Amino acid sequence: MKIYDISAPIFEGMPVYKNKEEKQPKIKTETNGHVTESRLELDVHTGTHIDSPLHMINDGPTFETIDLDKLVGQTKVFDLTSVNEKISKADVEGLNIESGDFILFKTKNSFDENFNFEFIFLAEDAAAFLAERGIRGVGIDALGVERAQPGHPTHKALFGADIIVIEGLRLKEVEEGEYVMVAAPLKLVGTDASPARVILMEGVTVE
Ligand SMILES: [Zn+2]
Repeated sequence: MKIYDISAPIFEGMPVYKNKEEKQPKIKTETNGHVTESRLELDVHTGTHIDSPLHMINDGPTFETIDLDKLVGQTKVFDLTSVNEKISKADVEGLNIESGDFILFKTKNSFDENFNFEFIFLAEDAAAFLAERGIRGVGIDALGVERAQPGHPTHKALFGADIIVIEGLRLKEVEEGEYVMVAAPLKLVGTDASPARVILMEGVTVE
């Protein structure tokens, strides 16, 4: 069995959304005698993370409502590295996507070392298609599942269909195919997202 860690490393100076300084993690380390302790200040949308509907829907469901059962299981990775600008319905409607699937899109974003303001995103028509297909979740290798769409229709189409959204994946080393995913967020209560460690296992299957 081979394990792929598809999470982004967290450190001061890491890539953050639109390079906003206030989104940088802050790690303060103090040593007192032989005891070292660090304090971490972290935006919940840092690095690889999972959004909850509250992120885009006022009074929407908070993070603890996302069932861990939905974050572990068979997952399909699709190679969309030939796609430019955005993932449209035309890019996904021919793929083997079935009801209940968790799908991850590998794009050119996985090869960016710094924040790319022109990152590939999931367009509204593709999100509507995935919602209609009834998938369980979708992950993308950008810090946002959409950009430059007024009113955030992609987030709303996905959350409206109870689809889990993982952002900030790193898929450079991963080929298209089927894997078992374990997406393990922090057990945060009441928030609009949580950072997560996400791994893919190759050569195993689960029910
Ligand atoms: Zn987010």
